[in-house]
Amino acid sequence: MSEYYWRPRCAICGRFVSYDADCRVMWGSYGDSEPPDPDYYCQKCVESEKEYYRKQGRPPSSYIPSNWEVGLAHELGYERAQYGWKKKEEREG
Ligand SMILES: [Zn+2]
Repeated sequence: MSEYYWRPRCAICGRFVSYDADCRVMWGSYGDSEPPDPDYYCQKCVESEKEYYRKQGRPPSSYIPSNWEVGLAHELGYERAQYGWKKKEEREG
């Protein structure tokens, strides 16, 4: 196998990342026939993104969230809803 393989790059800093790097798919525009290509993130940018959204107090909304988004959402008390995230309701009892 000596063919050229496309390699994913971090969507923020542009460095090459591994194929199993964390990635997410953003929402497409209405009328798109296919969902957009996934955005990949290197570990360094994952950390800075997490820090950014942690300060905002809410996770970013993606069509297919990355692992770091899911982790952060849970950390901030959000759960997956049909369109993005919703704050978990405090249940009494
Ligand atoms: Zn990066």
